[in-house]
Amino acid sequence: MSFPSEINVAIIGAGAAGLGAAHALKRSGLSFIVLEARERVGGRGHTIMPSPDVTFDVGCGWLHSAGQNSFVRVAEQLNFEIDRTLPPWRERAWGKAFPPDDRADFIRSLDEFFQRIEDAAKSGRDSPASLYLESGNRWNPMIDAVSTYINGCETDRLSILDFDAYEDSNTNWRIRRGYGALMAAYGASLPLVFNCEVTLIDHSAKRLRIETSQGTLQANKAIVTVPTNLIADEAVRFFPALPAKVDAAANLPLGLADKVMLALDAPDDLPKDGNLRGATMRTEMGTYHLRPFGQACIEGFFGGRFAQALEDAGSGAIAAQAIDEIVSFLGNDYRRRLKSLAESRWAHDPFARGSYSHALPGHAGKRAVLAAPVDGRLFFAGEATSPNFFSTAHGAHDSGGRAATEVMAAR
Ligand SMILES: Cc1cc2nc3c(=O)[nH]c(=O)nc-3n(C[C@H](O)[C@H](O)[C@H](O)COP(=O)(O)OP(=O)(O)OC[C@H]3O[C@@H](n4cnc5c(N)ncnc54)[C@H](O)[C@@H]3O)c2cc1C
Repeated sequence: MSFPSEINVAIIGAGAAGLGAAHALKRSGLSFIVLEARERVGGRGHTIMPSPDVTFDVGCGWLHSAGQNSFVRVAEQLNFEIDRTLPPWRERAWGKAFPPDDRADFIRSLDEFFQRIEDAAKSGRDSPASLYLESGNRWNPMIDAVSTYINGCETDRLSILDFDAYEDSNTNWRIRRGYGALMAAYGASLPLVFNCEVTLIDHSAKRLRIETSQGTLQANKAIVTVPTNLIADEAVRFFPALPAKVDAAANLPLGLADKVMLALDAPDDLPKDGNLRGATMRTEMGTYHLRPFGQACIEGFFGGRFAQALEDAGSGAIAAQAIDEIVSFLGNDYRRRLKSLAESRWAHDPFARGSYSHALPGHAGKRAVLAAPVDGRLFFAGEATSPNFFSTAHGAHDSGGRAATEVMAAR
């Protein structure tokens, strides 16, 4: 769509939250537009095909809490096949690198750690999750690694109250053609302006003045869905300034999770949808999804400070680390059989600057601060504003619907 000079509602960002807001506004009678800095829809939901037979969700891949996940209905409406194969994260680990007795012991320690956090959160007092690691437990480094996958950060940066507020039904499905592909289809019918980076929202006058890389737009209301790290860095500025929003965003930073996709030659001796990881006793480890959907590939996952260090080492470092680690588990033959297809570098992505939000210890209440409307004209959505499904695509989507409802109520 061409860039308008004025509009009722400007939605900033075409990720899951922006798409949710836009679809919810469709029947409101209000004119609206979605302003997106990238040249595509989906934000942190992005599917690519790095080779003709491999579908790769570079960002979100799992329909978490599938029974309550609003994207399940979207997928059904748009005829996107849902794969209900359960994830291989826990008991279904494969191979000798993590012997069954060790694995059972590790999972017991992990569950006991989660239980201690749940018990501690009942007091209503916040503290870092690292306090609940059992002193001397041999699995602590690997529990921290799991935290980097779930939260994007190690346990020392994780608020127990926030972690405890997350709702998980433990049912996780996938979209066969990709979560990002679903978002792209869902956004196809919407009024969008691509390559349109918003830099300033001036709310000093009666109408909002929104400065973008494509010019200036007047709007009555705006729904801001950009990731917290961009608000904290003031990549999108407000005038007059909104220090409470910047503070909330800074205390809900995006942690880091990165993925790599490796092509696998002669795949048949590895199980479809298996998991591979080793009893490495380190936090600096990957976890590997073997042959997702039966494809001839392995998807690696890294998180937290280790993912940051790998990103900082430059393009290709994540793939090189993944291949080295898989070879150490499965043998030298795999060096020949694996080839890098693609890897994410979300911390270096200028319009994400990370992967998903967590609350720093002492700041669990900041999600509500970030979500609160300002002056009946500025509204906030995005995964970080979700009270119970933060860090997820469906949480972002629902938050967009909530912000659109607030816009309509403020008429
Ligand atoms: C590696 C990885 C794995 C993940 N796995 C899962 C998973 O399995 N399941 C799950 O549910 N979630 C997962 N997530 C999280 C999920 O992808 C996000 O929580 C969700 O997509 C966030 O949606 P959003 O709309 O809040 O933000 P975004 O998707 O980031 O959308 C914000 C949009 O704003 C745009 N934008 C930024 N700055 C500007 C600007 N100045 N002007 C205009 N536009 C701007 C961005 O380009 C972007 O399109 C994963 C994320 C990553 C990175």
